[in-house]
Amino acid sequence: MSPEAERHEVVIVGGGPVGLCLGVLLARAGVDVVVLEARPERTQHSRAIGIHPPGLRVLAAAGVAGTLAASGVQLREGRARSQGGEVARLDFDPPVLAVPQWLTEDTLEARLTELAPGALRRGVCAVGVETRGSGAVVRALAGGAEVRFAGRWVVAADGARSPLRAALGIPVRERRYPDAYLMGDFADASGDGAAAVLHLEPAGIVESFPLPGGVRRWVVHTDVLEPDPTPQLLAGLVAERTGAVVDPESSTMLSAFTVHERLAASMLRGRVVLVGDAAHEVSPIGGQGMTLGWLDAEAFAPLIAEDLRAARQGWEPDGALAWPALWARVAEGRRRAAAEAARHAVLNMALGRPLPPALMSTRNAVFRGLYRARAVRAWTSRRFTMQS
Ligand SMILES: Cc1cc2nc3c(=O)[nH]c(=O)nc-3n(C[C@H](O)[C@H](O)[C@H](O)COP(=O)(O)OP(=O)(O)OC[C@H]3O[C@@H](n4cnc5c(N)ncnc54)[C@H](O)[C@@H]3O)c2cc1C
Repeated sequence: MSPEAERHEVVIVGGGPVGLCLGVLLARAGVDVVVLEARPERTQHSRAIGIHPPGLRVLAAAGVAGTLAASGVQLREGRARSQGGEVARLDFDPPVLAVPQWLTEDTLEARLTELAPGALRRGVCAVGVETRGSGAVVRALAGGAEVRFAGRWVVAADGARSPLRAALGIPVRERRYPDAYLMGDFADASGDGAAAVLHLEPAGIVESFPLPGGVRRWVVHTDVLEPDPTPQLLAGLVAERTGAVVDPESSTMLSAFTVHERLAASMLRGRVVLVGDAAHEVSPIGGQGMTLGWLDAEAFAPLIAEDLRAARQGWEPDGALAWPALWARVAEGRRRAAAEAARHAVLNMALGRPLPPALMSTRNAVFRGLYRARAVRAWTSRRFTMQS
């Protein structure tokens, strides 16, 4: 016999940055929320580092923007270089905040615990979901035993491979790109301070970004996924292409990855909502995935809270969704924003591919000319910081 379900107004599956942020926004709105997270402990492996101004707006609503701003680096400038010369220089106003993802998640988790102690349940892995007329039930495993959580709303914030999305049979459009990257964090000896730097080199792009604590993230385009990445290999590629010195002994994180793009056909199925990477995974090159997910949370939190308020007052149109057209419009807007971010990321990846030196010089000369124009610089800055 199935165990009796624990009831909450909202059950969020996935305690990554997006699930935690949505949990905080809902808890702030007085909603009874539980967040189920499969991992017993947070991984210190850092993925996202860039928080764009619209993401900071959502984090401010969650009440954590100040804490994160105090722990991060304000990225106010971007420079593009090639073969030792400057190609372009951009100002970011307002700036992008650089913080390792684990620290962002820690901060959101602390905020959720402050607002709703016990709302985050670690070590609970969702294995299925059933939609009902007036809600949904999540089946999960915790310590080997089956547990069930019922909610008027269930939110799948369970990442790019989203087991919940698969359980609901929501189709996904998936693309793979030929690009591979090697990424690592090292002590910052670049002399570039708080600037983000793109080295557009014939052998492939090298990007570097400041992080708190005197650390710098390096990302290098590689021809194939490195099967055996080492800090020495990354430091060697950086030195070979740019002449910059990176001390492999100071490495604190290393990762090799290829690029996928996924877009779910729908973000809504009955009273289940997909948010974050579960709804749309975009290439990390461009660094907009986490902010996109927070913008989903910002869009859906008031709709969910409003529906719950109406339900608490007994307004229940036959258990069906009130204002279905509004929900559909919001979901469609979020899918369009994700598709736009994906296109932007594809351009960024194209910019970083290897090119024969003569072609690279010609292309960079064109860029140099274009970026003398203030309007082009302003347009690029707005796109880079997700403000257009
Ligand atoms: C190398 C790299 C660099 C990146 N850089 C940036 C950047 O600079 N800026 C940016 O905005 N984005 C960046 N991104 C993208 C960003 O990391 C993701 O968009 C973001 O983590 C998505 O958050 P999420 O909460 O939707 O999913 P996730 O972070 O994947 O979190 C999902 C959570 O759900 C949990 N989970 C999964 N299945 C279950 C289950 N069955 N039951 C319970 N829990 C489950 C997982 O354990 C996980 O904690 C980068 C990504 C990569 C790979």
